Formats: sequence, structure tokens, C-alpha cells
Amino acid sequence: MNSARLHSQLEASVTQLREEKESKLEIICAFHEAVIVFKPDLTPQIINQQAKELLKHYPQDSDLIEQPLFFRNKKATIKFDLKQWLNDQITPSIPVTPASDPQEYLVWIRDPMTLKTTPLQLSAKALWTEKGLLKNVLLVIYDRSIHAQADEHKRLMEAAFNSYDGQFITNEKGYITHPNAAFCALTGLEVERLKSMTLTSWLDQQVTLKTTTNEVLQTLLQTRHWSGEVELHPMPNTTFYAVLSISMLADEHFNIEHYVVTIQNITDIHEAQLAIEQMAYYDDLTGLANRRLAFEHLDLALKHHKRHRTYAALFFINLDRFKSINDAFGRSTGDALLKQVAGTLKQMLRAEDTVARVGGDEFLILTQDKATSHNQATQNAYHLANKISKHLNRNFHIHETTLSNRVCIGITIFPFQENDTAEDLMMYADLAMSAAKRRSNQKIYFYEPSLSEVVIERRTLEHALTTADLDQEFHLYYQPQVGYPNHTIGAETLLRWHHPELGFIPPDKFIPIAEEGRQILRLGHWTLQKAFAQAKQWAAINPQFNLSINISPIQFYEADFIQQTLQIMRDTGVNPRNITLELTEGVLISDIQYALKTIEKLSRLGFRTSIDDFGTGYSSLSYLQKLPIHELKIDKSFIANVPQSSDDIAIVESIISLARTKGLLIVAEGVEKQEQADFLHRQSTDILIQGYLFGQPCSAEQFEEQHLRSKETA
Ligand code: C2E
Ligand code: CA
Ligand code: CA
Repeated sequence: MNSARLHSQLEASVTQLREEKESKLEIICAFHEAVIVFKPDLTPQIINQQAKELLKHYPQDSDLIEQPLFFRNKKATIKFDLKQWLNDQITPSIPVTPASDPQEYLVWIRDPMTLKTTPLQLSAKALWTEKGLLKNVLLVIYDRSIHAQADEHKRLMEAAFNSYDGQFITNEKGYITHPNAAFCALTGLEVERLKSMTLTSWLDQQVTLKTTTNEVLQTLLQTRHWSGEVELHPMPNTTFYAVLSISMLADEHFNIEHYVVTIQNITDIHEAQLAIEQMAYYDDLTGLANRRLAFEHLDLALKHHKRHRTYAALFFINLDRFKSINDAFGRSTGDALLKQVAGTLKQMLRAEDTVARVGGDEFLILTQDKATSHNQATQNAYHLANKISKHLNRNFHIHETTLSNRVCIGITIFPFQENDTAEDLMMYADLAMSAAKRRSNQKIYFYEPSLSEVVIERRTLEHALTTADLDQEFHLYYQPQVGYPNHTIGAETLLRWHHPELGFIPPDKFIPIAEEGRQILRLGHWTLQKAFAQAKQWAAINPQFNLSINISPIQFYEADFIQQTLQIMRDTGVNPRNITLELTEGVLISDIQYALKTIEKLSRLGFRTSIDDFGTGYSSLSYLQKLPIHELKIDKSFIANVPQSSDDIAIVESIISLARTKGLLIVAEGVEKQEQADFLHRQSTDILIQGYLFGQPCSAEQFEEQHLRSKETA
């Protein structure tokens, strides 16, 4: 019976009922369908036997309305409010024509005893009086479970035969009945062959489960569904990664009717996942562990050694000259060197040890070695560090170039302090490595707490340098350079920093930091401006007066160094003949060609150049032949021990004779005693003397007063 007809019959009956009251109740009760008649206030008026049967677990009529809980929509997951829905059918209260269709809705009802859910089709219709007043609301409830089963089946079949995923259905005995094309392709088996197999025989033959077949069957019996990641082997040496889903179709009595099996090939996803993992934990270039993996290993090791009261070492390795190699020979050479270093490290360590690349040219090593004491661990670590140095401090042959390599190694023994984290340990080893780098001879360095203090201080200074008001905080001091017997012919400019809170900070402390953080560029520019202006003023007093200015290698290698110097020269109007630029030996060695060109340009502009701290570099003297320099400054470390040390005497004598053959001016630094000056003057009266003996660095005013004007008047 279709619902429109049923409704019109009902409608007739209810009308009659209202007239004849109880007498016609049986008519409604006689309907095959479950019927409920509601009063205009939506309380039930009549509930027929079929409806009572259907809703038997809700005995009280009022529950039907007061507790809408037993109806749920969408597969019984969401509560359905019947009263609300009925109310929606009667508002707005404009009477719908008697012929209009009933409103329908699909809900699910769950039997609280068996938990079985049944789909129900609700069909409601409001009955109005001729005057437009609501008389009744009729609700007919159809059991749709038969339809639903058919729908489900159809859906499954459609899914099975239209999919890219491999699928099949089995019959009740478990034999494969409907393998789709994708399944045949994936398994490499013909339809006929498959049809002779059962679900379990296929599983045994081609599938590696992460669990047992038994467990899968158990889950199926409990939930009627199993799904999980599996390996599929269509051939002995082929592996696909797949998601296998098995659904069991069974009747209420657990008589298995079918299995529906889907297999989705996720080999691509699996491979992508592996690649992501590789990317996340390994260094692309060298294939070594990356910082993240190293960190995880270190974290585990730290916990392990803490628990077992044993000790181990963490090594931080840095290539000493990597940056210049990269700059000079290009990135591909740099990369090749890193690969070779990585290979060497891997070869000399065991497979269980962690070798990681944690930065550009930074490597980290964590071995499985254990020691019962801090001391023992230190000895072991020192031994290994020496071994590493031996393997890495050698020539590497790359793209027909031979690169000499040198490493700095920082080591921290751990556990160190109670609350240290893996991150702290990495920082300690890194600090030790930087300390090793700063030292010229000791390239293996163990962490000590004072290194951390140094870092904090460095950071403070770096920040203070970046934010400094140069005109307020910085001053130039001047130290006389004196000719024989005793007349000031020039001065060296020395930078002084008085920080408003940190106080006086000596240049030996802040210059290296300013160079590392490149704030030296700003400082150097400021110094050139002030010094050039000062030189111009003093040239007015003594036209021969020379002012020496320290130039940092960082400044010297800035592309616009010449340009800037020229600009300041023009701005101040200084005569470059009154200026000597002091360069260190290191400047000349790192790129002799560039240095040569730049010094030539400076000479052509009229500036004089000097080599500061001469004799402290490692280089050969051969470069001196090529450079158009004017002056050598003998480092104060050689002057300190003359005339006592015969070694130092020999060095000073040879520097002097070298300078003579080249016709270079000589300045001796750090002369504090008369006997030093006497020794030097015995060598040559042309030597200029700079040192506390003739004057400490002092302010411009003081300098002018004591060393310029006094001589003027003298
Ligand atoms: P430097 O260029 O070798 O400067 C000479 C250093 O020796 C100065 O130290 C000076 O005060 C000190 N000195 C002079 N006579 C004597 C002496 O008789 N005995 C002893 N023991 N020391 C003496 P200062 O001023 O502390 O500067 C240290 C270093 O800081 C300088 O070494 C230089 O490398 C750097 N520096 C100073 N001012 C500047 C600057 O304006 N620019 C750059 N780039 N570096 C600067
Ligand atoms: Ca100097
Ligand atoms: Ca010097």
C-alpha cells in the first residue's frame, strides 16, 4: 500500500473516530503498519498494536514524546527528536491541502537488549479542520530493514566492481567468488585460479600480516570488520605495501554469508614515508645522521649513562678552514670535502656509533664506549680525538685539487651536571670546539664551565656592540711613535670603549667579537672618519706627522673598502701621506692576490701600509717580496725579552735586516724599558719606538698637549 493512499484512508478513519470516539479504534489498530495518532499538542492519542510491538521497550506512551532517545538518525549515531520533527511538520500552521504528500524521514531504532539496529521510515501527516485548526498528526512507521539490506548489498557490489582497489567477495564457505580486475592485477593471479582459493589460503600464500590469521578472525567475529597494514607478495621477491580490509556479512545468528575483501596498494605512500623519515633524520649530502637524530641518540645515551652511573664523551668536530675552501674553490669542492670527511669518520668508527653532520662543516660523534669514571672517559676521549685528528688532518684530493685539512675537536664528558639536558651537552661540546678553534696549537679541547661564562660574556658584548652609540661610548686614543733620540714623529690610533654599564672594555676583548659579528665594519668606518679628521688637524701643526690606523681583515676584505676610504679621505680633506694603514699578516696570507691588488690601490692613492705584529704569523716571508708595503712593526712579544733572550735577539735582528734590504721603515712595539730602546738603537737609529717608555695611549687633547705642542715649543 503506498503511503499517500494509506494516509487518506487513515485520515478518513480518524475523522470518523473523532465523531464516533472509541468505536472506530479497531480500524486503526487493524492496519498492518505501525500507526500513532497524536493530539494537536503532540501527545499520543492512539498507538496501535503494531506500533506498540515496534516500540515495545518503551512501555509508557508518554516516553515516546518525552524521551526521543530511542530514535536515532544516520545509522543510530545521532539522537533524533521526534517531537521536534513532528512540530516542524505542523509549523507554520498554514493548513496544507488534504491531498498533499506526507513528510518522510529515515531513522534507526536500537533494541536495548540485542543492540540490533533497525531502519525505520517515519511518515507523518497533519490533519486540519476546514477552518484551518489542527486536528491530529498521523505517524506511520515502516520497517525498512529488508530494503536496507538490499541497498547495502547493491552498494557493496558496486564498490567492488568499480574500484581501483583490489576487491573480492567470498561465498559462505570462504571461496573467492568475485575478484575484480584490480585484484587480479595486484596479485598476479587469474580469475579461475583465484576462484579455487579461499580467503585464508590467499592470505597464507601472498600476505604477511603483522598479527596472526587467528587474531584477524577473532576480530571479525567480534566486530565483523578487520583492517590493517600488510605486505603483499605477488611473487617471491616482490613486496607491495597495502591496507587490507575484510568485512564479514553474517545474519543475526552469525551464519557467515560473505566476506568482502578490499586491498589498497599503498606502496607509494609507504615509500614516501620512508623518504620523509630519511629526510627528517639523515643529512642529504653525506648520508650521516642529522642534528635531530644525533639529538635523540644523545638523549638516550644521557639517560642510559645516568642510570648505569657510567660515563661517555660527545665530540664536536669542525673543519678549521672550511669557509675559505668553499670561498676559494666553490661549493661543489666544499661538498666533496664534506663527503670525504664523513666517509673517513664512518670508516674509523663502528656501525653502532653515531656520526652526524649537525651544521655546515660541523660533525658530531657519540660512541658506544662506556667508562666507570669521569677520568677514564676523559682518557678514552682524548685517545679517540687524537685518532680522529690523525685521520682527518691530512690532504684530501678533490677534483684534481689537493686540500690540506685541519680539524678542531671539542669534547664534553657526560653526565656532567645533574640537570644537564642533551641540548646542554651539545652546547658544551660546541663551546669546547670554539675554544679549540681560538687556540693556535691546541686543537682538541675539553669543555670546562668557564667556557659557558665566556659565551655569556661574548653574547652580552655582541649585543652591546650592536646597539652602541659610537660617538658616546667610543674614543680614539693615541700612542706616540718616537724617533731617535726622542722626538715624536707619529702615533698609533687605538680604540677605547667605555660602556655606560659594563664599564671599560679593552680592545683585545671586543675587537675579536666585533670581527666575528661584523660590527667591526661600523666601528672601522667610524674610526677612519675620526682618525682622518684628527690627522688633518695635526698635519696643520706638523705637516710630517703620521697617524697609524689599525684595519681589521674583515674591513680590508669588504668589497667597498677602497671606495669608503677614498670617500672619507675626500670628506675630511686629509692628505693620505699623513696616514699609515696597519694590516696584519693574516690579511695578506688568506688571499695574496686580492691583498696585493688592494694594497697597490691604496699606495696609488698615497696611503702608506704597515704590517702589524710582524713575525707572529706562520707564513713564509716570500710574500713580502711582492707587496708594495712601507713598514714593518715588530711584535711586542719579541721586544719583551730583549736584550735578555738570545732567541728573540736573533729574531729582532733578522726582521731588521730584512726590512733594511727592502727599504722598509721599522717600528718596534711594546718598548717599556730604556735597555730595550738602547738595544734597538744599537741596531739602527732609524727604528721608531712605540711603548710605555715614551708614552701610554692617551686622549687626543692629552696627546696634543704632551707630544705635539710641547715639541713645537721646544
Ligand atoms: P696592536 O695593534 O698591536 O696595538 C698595540 C697594543 O699594544 C695596544 O693595545 C697598546 O696599548 C699596547 N701597547 C703599547 N705599548 C705597550 C707597552 O709598552 N707594553 C705593553 N704591554 N703594551 C703596549 P690595545 O690598545 O689594548 O689594543 C689591543 C689591540 O686591539 C691592538 O693591538 C689592535 O689589534 C686592536 N685594536 C685597537 N684599536 C683598534 C682599532 O681601531 N681597529 C682595529 N681593527 N683594531 C684595534
Ligand atoms: Ca696596531
Ligand atoms: Ca701590534
